[in-house]
Amino acid sequence: MNIVIATHNKDKCKEILSEFSNLAVSLKTLEEYPNIGDIEETGLTLDENALIKVREVFAATGLPSMGDDTGLEVDALDGKPGIYSARFAGEDCTYMDNVTKMLNEMKNVPENDRGAQFRTVVAYKDSKRELICEGVVKGSISTGIKGLGGFGYDPLFYIPEYKKTFAEMTMEEKSKISHRGIAIRRMVQLLKDNAIFPHNNTLKTREELA
Ligand code: IMP
Repeated sequence: MNIVIATHNKDKCKEILSEFSNLAVSLKTLEEYPNIGDIEETGLTLDENALIKVREVFAATGLPSMGDDTGLEVDALDGKPGIYSARFAGEDCTYMDNVTKMLNEMKNVPENDRGAQFRTVVAYKDSKRELICEGVVKGSISTGIKGLGGFGYDPLFYIPEYKKTFAEMTMEEKSKISHRGIAIRRMVQLLKDNAIFPHNNTLKTREELA
């Protein structure tokens, strides 16, 4: 079975490919479809944006497609930047522009009020159905950047239980607890429940695979 991953973001793509690495499914990336340009995220919710991405990729390829939309929701900023996380520091900004803006906006916010959550909505579309599911992880916005791994806001997103930012974790560590890891594992279950994946297409743990 082929599924096209509906994102041009290589970092996201790497995480999604890794989540599916032990399943009998062939994932294609948009690199194989250079005619699909930037997909405009015109929705007002993560759900709408995730569906826009998979609908556009399904229409262009005729193949099942799966994609996510992710937002960082910061308590002290009334849930912002949310769906505008990619463009927080303006159109065409870099990850570092967003991180710098976030540190600035949060510079007077005390330690106890720095709570935040990442929310990912994963959508799937084929000729018969559209499926959607969500993953959330709670953490806080650190007062400076820490770690070299991950991408986007990861150097700022601190998980108190692990005493690490996402950027200080390996991809496997991040995946176990992350918004995207949770949402994708739920989607795999939904794909099985809808008989799109056979039930014996088991998601083995990395320990089982070793
Ligand atoms: P979008 O889902 O492509 O709209 O991305 C939203 C924004 O959040 C982008 O700036 C991403 O870089 C950032 N982002 C998405 N997922 C993650 C993540 O797992 N860690 C850190 N930043 C992320």
